[in-house]
Amino acid sequence: MYDDNNIFAKIIRGEIPCKKVYEDDNFLAFYDISPKAPVHVLVIPKSAYVSLNDFAEKAENDLLAETFKVIPKIAKDLGIYEGYKVAVNVGERGGQEVPHFHVHIMGGWK
Ligand code: 5GP
Repeated sequence: MYDDNNIFAKIIRGEIPCKKVYEDDNFLAFYDISPKAPVHVLVIPKSAYVSLNDFAEKAENDLLAETFKVIPKIAKDLGIYEGYKVAVNVGERGGQEVPHFHVHIMGGWK
C-alpha cells in the first residue's frame, strides 16, 4: 500500500524542497540529502510506486524502458557518464528507507 505522506511524495508535490537536477513528465531527479558519494542523486518516477517490485508489477513497459534511458542521461548531465554506480534498495530488509521507488546514481570518485 502506497503511503501518500512519504517524503518523496511530498517532494513531488512541491511540499518540501529538493535540489533538482532533472525533471520531465515522468521522472524527477534530485541530490540525496545525505550523500554517500561525491555525486549522489536519486531518480524517482512521479507516479506512486512503493518499490522496484511494485514498479515492475504495475508500470507500463514504456515507463520501465524509459527508466533505463533516463539514468545515463542524468549521469551525463551530472558529468559522471564515464563511471557511476546505480543502486536500488528494495524493502526494509533490503535497506529501503523511503517507500517510493527510487534509483540511486552515485559517482564522482577520483
Ligand atoms: P533508501 O535507503 O530508501 O534506498 O534511500 C533513501 C535515500 O533518501 C537516502 O539516501 C536518504 O539520504 C535520502 N533522503 C531521505 N530523506 C530525504 C529528503 O528529505 N531529501 C532528499 N533529497 N533525500 C532524502
